[in-house]
Amino acid sequence: MKNILDFTLDELSELVTPKFRAKQIYEWIYKKGVKNFDEMLNLPKELRANLSENFYLDPVKCVKCEESIDGSKKYLFELKDGKTIESVLLPMKEEVADENGKISRHARYTICVSSQVGCKMGCAFCLTAKGGFVRNLTAGEIVGQILYIKIANQIPYERRVNVVYMGMGEPLDNLANVSKAVQILKENDGLAIAPRRQTISTSGLATQIKKLGEMDLGVLLAISLHAVTDELRAKLMPINKAYNIASVMDAVRNFPIDMRKRVMFEYLVMGGVNDSPSDAKTLVKLLHGIKAKVNLIYFNPHEGSPYLRPSTENMVKFQDYLSAHGVTCTIRQSKGLDISAACGQLKERSKNDRP
Ligand code: SAH
Ligand code: SF4
Repeated sequence: MKNILDFTLDELSELVTPKFRAKQIYEWIYKKGVKNFDEMLNLPKELRANLSENFYLDPVKCVKCEESIDGSKKYLFELKDGKTIESVLLPMKEEVADENGKISRHARYTICVSSQVGCKMGCAFCLTAKGGFVRNLTAGEIVGQILYIKIANQIPYERRVNVVYMGMGEPLDNLANVSKAVQILKENDGLAIAPRRQTISTSGLATQIKKLGEMDLGVLLAISLHAVTDELRAKLMPINKAYNIASVMDAVRNFPIDMRKRVMFEYLVMGGVNDSPSDAKTLVKLLHGIKAKVNLIYFNPHEGSPYLRPSTENMVKFQDYLSAHGVTCTIRQSKGLDISAACGQLKERSKNDRP
């Protein structure tokens, strides 16, 4: 049995005859959100039977879902081989209705997806790192997370959805499948999520950033920086020994991005570790000449981690310094703190919950 979400429209067209059936299948799956092939009413019976025998369209099964008071939802999904991954739905803007109840602005959503089961990178602050690396996700398993969440939350087809590859795993360590997922997601007969609505976050694999740039997919790039000196960064993120900060910045400078967009730098702030005024100063220097925006993230403590959540005061000072020096900087509202929203945390808890 094959996962039908693994196929681009072109690939599917090679598998079914006549070719135009592929487009219809795509529409049933992605636009109408059917759960099985029998519901694909405009397909001949034989084709439906044939598809049911050879394909499945549910690569992820929800085994746990936690909703936070702020509306974000965290999903624990089981894959066909029993391995588990996490995804998060983040409502970005709330629905606004006028006095007659007419909706004047629709809600917007961001879906955070995993790209691997586990991760090889071994970052000191990250819970996903603890379990080591298990395997890459296929393109269809990545697409499946988004499709499931859209259907389960009845998010209308036309509603804008952003995708961030910031769940478990290092997307650029699985570039072939991640780039294929980008393509499948953008298909007009499918979910039609434009690449400029998809952000790939990396711990800084410089040669892979270069490769991604050469593919020229039109995706946005996010760099998990987290430290401004090689000494500290190598302690927090072992990958820095292979690709130091200078090599990452070099790769970023050469990355093709839309004129109107910026490269995002994620900076996980750990109290007393990387939140000093001198860190802020060095960060401004590092970003000189790059169209960047910085996203400061409160470290979310987990059991056994030696790091602390920074004080709000330090966080705001850090932000003020960057802003005063012309660097766009936001503080990520820690959505879903109450549902253990930093990736890897739901999975970890669920393991411990088991008798
Ligand atoms: N591997 C890629 C993409 C996913 S990592 C990368 O590192 O960029 C997932 C995100 O969760 C990263 O931005 C990481 O900084 C963040 N993260 C990991 N542990 C966290 C924690 N304890 N609290 C808050 N954010 C955390
Ligand atoms: Fe992997 Fe990203 Fe976690 Fe580092 S922060 S271990 S790269 S998932």
